Formats: sequence, C-alpha cells, structure tokens
Amino acid sequence: MGASLKTWSTPVREEKSLGIPCAVCGGNKFSPALSCEGFFYVRCSNCGLVQMNPQPQIAEVEDRYRKSHGEDYLAYELANEIPFLRLQQLALKDVDFGPPDEKADRVLDIGCAAGALLEKLRDEGWKTCGVEICKPAAEYGRQKRGLDIRDLPLEENHFPDNSFDAVLASHLIEHLNKPSDFVREVRRVLRPGGRFYLTTPNIRGLQAKIFRGRWRSAIFDHLYLFSVKTLRALLEKNSFTVEKIITWGGLAAGSAPVPLKRLADKAAKRFGFGDVMMVRALRGE
Ligand SMILES: [Zn+2]
Repeated sequence: MGASLKTWSTPVREEKSLGIPCAVCGGNKFSPALSCEGFFYVRCSNCGLVQMNPQPQIAEVEDRYRKSHGEDYLAYELANEIPFLRLQQLALKDVDFGPPDEKADRVLDIGCAAGALLEKLRDEGWKTCGVEICKPAAEYGRQKRGLDIRDLPLEENHFPDNSFDAVLASHLIEHLNKPSDFVREVRRVLRPGGRFYLTTPNIRGLQAKIFRGRWRSAIFDHLYLFSVKTLRALLEKNSFTVEKIITWGGLAAGSAPVPLKRLADKAAKRFGFGDVMMVRALRGE
C-alpha cells in the first residue's frame, strides 16, 4: 500500500503549547493515540475524544491562517476547488440539504474559503453569508464572486441571535482550539428549528486505521480528530439533536487499483467507515 498523501497543512513550527483537559467531557486522563512528526494526539480515557495535547494556543493558531500562510492556503483552495465543491455538494445532497424556501433561505458557511459553495447556493436562491479568517481567500470571494464574506472568526462577527436557517462548516472544527465554544456560538446564531451541517475527518474510518500517524488528516493544523461518537457527544452537550450522519471515502486515490477503490468507497459509505463524515444536527428550542 502506498503512503497516504497528507492534506495541506501549515508547516510544523515551534509554538508555545499547553496541556489541556478533554474538550468534550473535561476529563484529564489520556492514553497515547497517534504519533506524528513533531506532535502527537492523545485519547481521552473517559469519552474517547482524540486531541492534540499539549496544544498550541489560540493566538498562534489563528496567526497561521490570518497572517503567515494566507496566500499558500488560497492557492491550495483554488487548485482543488472543483473536486472539493463536488464532494461537498454530494454530501449535502445525501443529508437532504435545501433547497431554500420563503421560511428558510438564510445560510452561513463558516470556513468558506474563496466561496465556491456559497456562489452555487446563491444561484439556488439562498441568501448567503460567509466567514473566512484567511484574508486573501475572503477577499477573492468578495472581489471575484461578489459574496458577503467576513474575515473575522465567527464569534467576532457578533451576528444577532437567530440570524440563519442553516449553518455549514466543512473541514473547520478540527482546526479550532475550542470546538465546544464554536458549537455553542453556531447554536446561538441559528434559529430554533435551524440545522447545522458539519463536515470533519473520521478517525474511526478505514484510512485512519491503516495509516495511523501517517493518515492524511493527522496533520499539524488538526487539533481534534473526531469519531461519530465524539462528534455526537460534542453536539448533544451543546443542545443539538443529531439527525443524520454519513461517511464517505474508502481508500486514498492512488493507493489501490481503481475497481478495488470503488468497492472500498461503496462499502465505506454503506457501513460508516469512510474517511470523512458529515452530520446534520437540529437546533432545538
Ligand atoms: Zn473526554
């Protein structure tokens, strides 16, 4: 089996890092989970959450995207925009997202990159808004696509309560130091009855099991690696009801002959051991 090609990441660098309790249950007992070059992940003995620990601090993590590597990130996003968009659209279809109607047409995409998905959603009749802290990417979406994209972290935009009918966040939550604070803020800006569509790598997937520390999602920028179970726990802790979870992606492209990859992709989707997952969660009253 060939090596797993890792997702783009900012380079590993020396940052001040601190040991933290489990971000889902607050537990303080861990066992080693994955060891990578220059950092490692532990597993919470109580709830099973896998997190980088010790962990770099918020200001330094934000600086990676806001200042140091913005142009690199935009180039990576633009180079991969079409396949990324296609995957996101397929997943959204699988969890019955949209179309908009008069009662529900306000969508927020957090971590929207250059706004490829938002542009499609606007074409479908959604009133769109995006958040993207990488300034060059946000600027690209505003200039080239005429989208409303804010380049501050979600909390700093101070959206009023109940601003949106749907909130999307794809490949974002694993980058955040405080995923629980993030989910709570999403809940606040969603209206009661609104839905949260969250996409993140699946550490219980086949590829994570095969590649372990070389898994493509075990990268310096990913502070958390969720499973269906731990993602559900995080959402339920913040008063969301999980309605649907799908996973997709069996074997990495190039790691197996095409017919075998197709078979693995089908099985991964059917049995829930795909490499990436999307959850649809309901914001209750
Ligand atoms: Zn825990």
